[in-house]
Amino acid sequence: APGGPRTLLALNWKMNKTPTEARAWGRELAGEYRPGIRGKAEVAVMAPAISLYGLKEALPGGVDIGGQDVSAHESGAYTGEISAAMLRDAECTYVIVGHSERREYHGETDAVVAAKARQAQAHGLTPIVCVGEGLEVRERGEHVAHTLAQLRGSLEGVDERVVVAYEPVWAIGTGKTATADDAEEMAAAIRGALAEQYGALALGLRVLYGGSVKPDNVASICGQPNVNGALVGGASLKVEDVLGLLAAL
Ligand code: PGA
Repeated sequence: APGGPRTLLALNWKMNKTPTEARAWGRELAGEYRPGIRGKAEVAVMAPAISLYGLKEALPGGVDIGGQDVSAHESGAYTGEISAAMLRDAECTYVIVGHSERREYHGETDAVVAAKARQAQAHGLTPIVCVGEGLEVRERGEHVAHTLAQLRGSLEGVDERVVVAYEPVWAIGTGKTATADDAEEMAAAIRGALAEQYGALALGLRVLYGGSVKPDNVASICGQPNVNGALVGGASLKVEDVLGLLAAL
């Protein structure tokens, strides 16, 4: 959005790339990261936790990294989980919480998502809190009420150091993108809910759109008054596509 906070391109690799591939990707981006491209947006790569450390070293300066999930617990007997302190020590700036794939396949409720976001903030990470409706809800015309209810639950006790990503589930990985107007309708509603919780600070917070964002639609979506960037899955895997996204902005 012109005049709003700096555009954020948050790249969500999901369960893709080995640590070796991640480092190679970082080096490839570093080789292509020219001043004209660099200024277009803030870029952050949400990589699998095992790749984060090596990735950060390979990336060009100024590109941030983040986790795709974080434990709601501080430390201890939680086999397989990654803590916020670990992500922070690995130089993460961000962490995605409540992605629809975590909500669907791992049963994460709004209360769990909020606990994860609070835990992230307690360790200096900025949570990217994901919300969004499924197709049935959209077809019933209840997408705004549904998404705002999810948002309020997912931000319980969370302070204003937060990014919100609106990701309609029906647009993720399907090639179906919400129109720029759909994205703006929800982003404006989300901003209203953020204003209820954080007052005037809501104007400076980033609301992202995610779901089949590509080089050919990123500019119209990110140009909407209440959209401050994108959460990108499929088009984040190749350096060429990321350069295409930046060039289009
Ligand atoms: P997509 O994924 O860009 O592949 O639709 C977005 C996401 O799930 O964050």
